[in-house]
Amino acid sequence: MPTKYIFITGGVVSSLGKGLAAASIGRLMEARGFSVTLQKLDPYLNVDPGTMSPYQHGEVYVTDDGVETDLDLGHYERFTSTVCSRDHNFTSGRIYEQVIARERRGDYLGGTVQVIPHVTDEIKQAIRRISKGIDIQIVEIGGTVGDIESLPFLEAIRQFRLEAGRSDAVFVHLTLVPYIGPAGELKTKPTQHSVRDLRAIGIQPDVLMCRTDRFIPKEIKKKIALFCNVPEDAVITAKDVETIYEVPLVLAKEGLDAILLKLLDLPYRDKNMDEWVTMVDRVKNPKSGEVSIGIVGKYVTYEDSYKSLNEALTHGGIANDVRVKLRWIEADNLVDGQLEEAIAPCHGILVPGGFGLRGVSGMLEAIRHAREKRIPFFGICLGLQCAVIEFARNVCGLKDADSSEFNLSTPYPVIYKLRELEGVERMGGNMRLGHWPCVLQPGSQAHLAYGQAEISERHRHRYEVNREYLDAMIKKGLKVSGETPDRRFVEIVELPDHPYFLSCQFHPEFKSKPMLPHPLFRSFIGACKQFRQTQR
Ligand code: GLN
Repeated sequence: MPTKYIFITGGVVSSLGKGLAAASIGRLMEARGFSVTLQKLDPYLNVDPGTMSPYQHGEVYVTDDGVETDLDLGHYERFTSTVCSRDHNFTSGRIYEQVIARERRGDYLGGTVQVIPHVTDEIKQAIRRISKGIDIQIVEIGGTVGDIESLPFLEAIRQFRLEAGRSDAVFVHLTLVPYIGPAGELKTKPTQHSVRDLRAIGIQPDVLMCRTDRFIPKEIKKKIALFCNVPEDAVITAKDVETIYEVPLVLAKEGLDAILLKLLDLPYRDKNMDEWVTMVDRVKNPKSGEVSIGIVGKYVTYEDSYKSLNEALTHGGIANDVRVKLRWIEADNLVDGQLEEAIAPCHGILVPGGFGLRGVSGMLEAIRHAREKRIPFFGICLGLQCAVIEFARNVCGLKDADSSEFNLSTPYPVIYKLRELEGVERMGGNMRLGHWPCVLQPGSQAHLAYGQAEISERHRHRYEVNREYLDAMIKKGLKVSGETPDRRFVEIVELPDHPYFLSCQFHPEFKSKPMLPHPLFRSFIGACKQFRQTQR
């Protein structure tokens, strides 16, 4: 069977949840027994999002093969069994980089290099690169229809459909149907305009997914169908939901997957979403109440910055049958006495990844508090580095111990730049990235959580634990419970003398799934649940 393609575009406004829509379609198709893969094409000119601030772009998601990608790939991996790699996310920057490299090599010798056909050919090749052996490939186009910069991608998928044929490629367009309170009406005009923009560049959507806060009545669907030239049953309500994991269920109820099968001329197969339904029910109605987690970080005002973390904590909740309430605490604001107040309602404290000095002193304070007051603590990447600095300063008496990221002239650089990056000032794709193996100390908290001796986790950092100070810290009670097999890198540290105090250099949140909660999030939330018990 040739690969079938579902192209997803977005209109009217950004942030309608195209990534979740794509991931949900993937989930539904897998539930019907088809093999699925997903891909994101992003119109911006950065070669990858690794050089962008979380405020600009949200979280940078890291794949096993060590590529810094768009956060939607996180949804793809959480919702389906797809394992994303370098070829699952292309930006305009990367496409142009390849075209220009070819031009310099002389591949187009004698010709004028143009957006059509050279850039569009490169895009079509990028799409085909991950199709081998796949039944259904879902391709999400970033940005909003009408933007200048997404035009080459839209032109490329227009051509793609022409080449592949009608039953091998379909266009799904996600739009907004706002409810205007004073008029008491759902408005279809923005959708009409957005579809008109698409049609002007040669793309007639086959399916419209209409994001709304309520179900769209039949007569409104009829109107949208008429004005947008799509069959009425292909106008799908994409209603707001309580948890993102409900999205596939709501879309299935609207008949989305059945329509796609029909359009793609795919054989009908029953779908099995039973386990997913059970999981959603656990998220919505946990039996063991709620735990509050204080996340002391620096990008907390923008929720997308910690997308995977947010989800992994929810998964930890699923595993423990509790609702996880997140309290985002801006580390920079934790001055003079505000810490205790901010942290008082929390059953656990988490310091996530981050870059740069801002907020670090607040994180160190929060960690000290968690260590001394025996509150469950989980540090991730920068969180581990801060935990080591705090321990060096306050337990080992190494005054002004620091990371050379924050203070180059510290007398005790307990965290320092990765040895292979010494003298490297260039930015962009040159951190320690992607998956690395790690062996666990038998009997440690980490070993207990994972239940296995060797693991593999994803990384994204430029600084590491300096082994020179390790012995001094081990003597004072710090335990190195995870290292790379060659013992080069410290991967996990913990305090055995504490109910739960564990930090890791990697990002476990990238490998957590709702159906397969990550062991460290499961154990951390478990410890928080226990801590809550002692509080009563
Ligand atoms: N800034 C630290 C480093 O580069 C931590 C990075 C992170 O938390 N992802 O090593």
